[in-house]
Amino acid sequence: MEKEIKRKCQGCFNLINRNELIKITKLKDGTLKVNPSKYELGRSIYVCKNEECIKQLIKKKKLKTALKYSNMDEILKVEEILKSSV
Ligand SMILES: [Zn+2]
Repeated sequence: MEKEIKRKCQGCFNLINRNELIKITKLKDGTLKVNPSKYELGRSIYVCKNEECIKQLIKKKKLKTALKYSNMDEILKVEEILKSSV
């Protein structure tokens, strides 16, 4: 049986099954990637696949603070992807 891996959602701060979360990773080339492949490594945060958690993540500027990231163009791009994914 596969072991359950849980990660913290940056919207509601609950520990959620990894499979039910959207992953956002800061890649080595300095860009952000939504749901990267397992070969694309970097600092990552997670958010539930629901409107409220994504809204909270954006409101609390978690892409900037939790990922220690400052490229606003990339942040806005990822926020649009997140908003359109629910
Ligand atoms: Zn959540």
